Amino acid sequence: MKILRNAQRPLVNALRRRYAIFDGLWQRFPDNIFLIRCGDAGRFYVEAINPPLEAMFGMTSEEACGKPIEEVVPADYLPAVLARYQECVASRAPLSYEEIGAADQANPQYWLTIMVPAVDGQGRVEYILGISRDITLIRQAEETLRQANEVLEKRVAERTAALEAANQRLRELAIHDGLTGLYNRRHFFELAEHAFRQTLRSGFDLSVVMVDLDSFKRINDSLGHAAGDLVLREIAGVFRLVMRESDIVGRYGGEEFAVLMSSAGAQEACRLAERLQNAVADSRIQWRDTAIQCTLSAGVAQYSPQCDASLDALIERADVALFEAKSRGRNCIVVSRPDTSLCSSRELFS
Ligand code: GH3
Ligand code: MG
Ligand code: MG
Repeated sequence: MKILRNAQRPLVNALRRRYAIFDGLWQRFPDNIFLIRCGDAGRFYVEAINPPLEAMFGMTSEEACGKPIEEVVPADYLPAVLARYQECVASRAPLSYEEIGAADQANPQYWLTIMVPAVDGQGRVEYILGISRDITLIRQAEETLRQANEVLEKRVAERTAALEAANQRLRELAIHDGLTGLYNRRHFFELAEHAFRQTLRSGFDLSVVMVDLDSFKRINDSLGHAAGDLVLREIAGVFRLVMRESDIVGRYGGEEFAVLMSSAGAQEACRLAERLQNAVADSRIQWRDTAIQCTLSAGVAQYSPQCDASLDALIERADVALFEAKSRGRNCIVVSRPDTSLCSSRELFS
């Protein structure tokens, strides 16, 4: 008997040393550790808890030892805790999960728990060792970062929208005339070139009307430049009212305007020029105590494959017709025929 005890001594010493090491670690481990015994009929009992959990539950490990889990874990968390134990027992494999462990809604506490089952010789889960780490600070930092990102993204979206609006405004400014709001000369030519090429492909009609206000200099000279500006703006408004949606109108020069009419022949272009002529003549533009009245002259040309090799050639014919209208005393419309001869719009209809 004595011989046997002597033989066991090294083993006992080794176990004592190992126990001391594990107990030291158990006492000093900073996260919550719990050892749960799995009883019959799906019941669970506390076997041991480490000091951080003792502090949390308000009882020593010795006091907790042997207690059913229901008597240790607060009722609020019990169903979730039991479900995890059952899962661990059923799977017989380690599992890891995250939970929110504080009843205080405003200050939630986040826990990361790892459970490892201890399986006996029959494959039955005898114990569960669990370690829970408080990861609240990490989650709070993540939430702060998420909120900061949200603010940043909102700001970026606002700046992008402002930039897009500014770009849109710049695009508008780049294609419009600042005084009248009509297309500027460069954009008029871009659109007109496009329409001209389409006409070459489709064979549809295309006409140009060049318009120049009569004796406009007199308005500037007698009433001042600001009055002239007002007249230009008002006349542009009249143009907008009279034009079809498909007509392209641009401010060609100082008091000169160009209209390009797709799918329109010379007669239709003359009718538009007449409508413009009448609308402008009927307008009274009030400048201080003066009601300004003005008239216009117009030159019309319909695209002709014989003489218009380019858009410039077509515009040039309309320009020559406009020059002729001025020569004929102004306030009239002259048309350039396909053979480049000139006639008044009335002659064209007769
Ligand atoms: P005509 O019947 O022969 O066309 O005579 P006109 O006086 O209309 O033509 P002219 O070419 O002699 O004068 C055009 C005037 O238009 C001269 C110029 O100062 C004025 N003008 C050009 N651009 C503007 C502008 O943006 N604002 C103002 N107020 N006047 C302008
Ligand atoms: Mg003029
Ligand atoms: Mg002019």
